[in-house]
Amino acid sequence: MSQKQHSVRLFLNADLSANTGVILDKAQSHYVVNVMRREVGDTLALFNGRDGEWLGEVQDARKNGCLVHVKECLRPQLSVPNIELAFAPVKKIQTALIIQKATELGAASLIPVQTVRTNADRLREDKIILQAIEAAEQSERLDLPEIKPLTRLTDYLKGLEPDRVLIFCQERAGPGDLLADLAKLKNHQKWAVLIGPEGGFTDEERTLIVGHETTTVLSLGPRILRAETAVISAMTLVQASIGDW
Ligand code: SAH
Repeated sequence: MSQKQHSVRLFLNADLSANTGVILDKAQSHYVVNVMRREVGDTLALFNGRDGEWLGEVQDARKNGCLVHVKECLRPQLSVPNIELAFAPVKKIQTALIIQKATELGAASLIPVQTVRTNADRLREDKIILQAIEAAEQSERLDLPEIKPLTRLTDYLKGLEPDRVLIFCQERAGPGDLLADLAKLKNHQKWAVLIGPEGGFTDEERTLIVGHETTTVLSLGPRILRAETAVISAMTLVQASIGDW
């Protein structure tokens, strides 16, 4: 397959099965036809988060509704480790970075959490979904992370399933054996990684989080990381020690 054919990979909501046709929406058709210059007979990859990844062939390169013939399954659907990222929204650009990186790093779900020092006024759920779709397409994921609505920290803690381990990333937590601490969590099935806002959690919030029955405190080293760096570091460590790496 040529390089040209490899590089278009699209998420869509339609069911995917052999010998069916799908019509791409306007934005995807524009991307395929005008931006990527695909023509009739060119192939691309399609996924919907349920049916695996499929090879599609452009049948009609219409700019408003490109018709794609679905040919064969390239990869069956896989389930990803149930790692949730709970993050306090930060400024727009950094929040976009968090969504993108957490999706690439395989978070199963993303939940923005409102804390005392969070200003989430500008959080746009539709934008977050688009950022996650783009990162999933690019990173060859077979699914999208579930995007949960903005939730107050207290409600998030109350609503956590009793069997979900809460990995609380806390700066200045003191030295610990990080890899050994993470290895101890391996025999669980559900995890959540919690990262705070730029201003950190308040003392009261910290007490509440540490007091939650499934909390494990994780130090990401002696330096204070920005929230987006903390997300990348924590997701990497968790995936490498208990996830699917
Ligand atoms: N302004 C705060 C730091 C907040 S950093 C202060 O100076 O104390 C934003 C978030 O990143 C924190 O709430 C924490 O969840 C995470 N974080 C940053 N550095 C960390 C570290 N070394 N270990 C664990 N978590 C860290």
